[in-house]
Amino acid sequence: MSRADEPSAEFDQRDEPLISLENVEVNFEKDQGLFDLFEEPDVVKAVDGVSLDIEENDVLALVGESGCGKTTLGKTTIGLQRPTGGTVTYKGQDIWAAKDGDGEIPFDEIRSSLQIIHQDPGSSLNPNRRILNILAEPIKLTHPEAGTSERRERIHALLERVGMNPPSDFADRYPHQLSGGEKQRVALCRALLMNPDVILADEAISALDVSLRVEMMDLMLDLQSEFDTSFVFVSHDLSNARYFAEHGDGRIGVMYLGNLVEVGPADQLIGDPSHPYTNVLRWATPNLSRQSGEAGEPPMRRIDIPDPVNPPSGCRFHTRCPEAREACREVPRLQQSGEAAGHRVACFRDDPNHSYWDSDPLTEEGD
Ligand code: SF4
Repeated sequence: MSRADEPSAEFDQRDEPLISLENVEVNFEKDQGLFDLFEEPDVVKAVDGVSLDIEENDVLALVGESGCGKTTLGKTTIGLQRPTGGTVTYKGQDIWAAKDGDGEIPFDEIRSSLQIIHQDPGSSLNPNRRILNILAEPIKLTHPEAGTSERRERIHALLERVGMNPPSDFADRYPHQLSGGEKQRVALCRALLMNPDVILADEAISALDVSLRVEMMDLMLDLQSEFDTSFVFVSHDLSNARYFAEHGDGRIGVMYLGNLVEVGPADQLIGDPSHPYTNVLRWATPNLSRQSGEAGEPPMRRIDIPDPVNPPSGCRFHTRCPEAREACREVPRLQQSGEAAGHRVACFRDDPNHSYWDSDPLTEEGD
């Protein structure tokens, strides 16, 4: 099966990224308690100053601790979350200008090109409709000319492709008659039937049995190349992010307290991390720390995650970083690291000429 809407020649010539985020910020106001009603609301900077491109047929795995902003960044990338600062463009078109009626590409077209698979697919599948009817909806939108039998044929072929056999049996069922893994396959089918340019898989395998996770990731990657789409894969688990990015010949992006602190090819980033926080994630992932011989004491000064309402100034990781020095009171920018194409890191240690190397180590009192 192949995509029906190949990218236009005009878009190819522009040689622009499919999606481009420029200095994106997303702030949320925290819910106020009854006694705080007359106070200024607390603001969480869920995403703070992230710039990132998604290319055609790209695979990007976003990883980080709970609350680091990876899901918010993913949703902002596909136009589900409006940024409070910066821009997000799709094929050169500002997504939110399109939403406000100002643009060459209609917002509806952008939204249908950017799809999501949730952690809990059950919540997004209408419990009162059979799978056949759920999957017929996207075909009606993308191929309004298709008749009932053509729609059924396409749905059966896709259900068979994702391993739901016999397809006529599954097409006749309701969501509650499916297992978690089967629901996730239906969610994947529904996303693919929109002929998407990008699919955000938001912790899409986290709720599955461990034995099914690799199977589901392999299926997503097989279909990624067959359908000529890109994937943004959000996970709190570095070993899953590594598997997905390595097998999809893609990148891993590491988030920490709203910042993208390292991004690069999976083998480079896991084999030789440049950011001390990536090192922590590797240490915390048993099969990776065993490989690198790092099991033992955590490579950080403190376990506790700082309050996202009042994050540390300068490098946000400086209160936990074992390598922190006085120079880390400044904000490090994401910059090219080493020779590997696309490997960028936000850490002063990566620059041998930075004044970091002449500054004093930070003490606990100096935090
Ligand atoms: S900039 Fe400093 S505190 Fe931040 S990760 Fe690098 S060494 Fe650690």
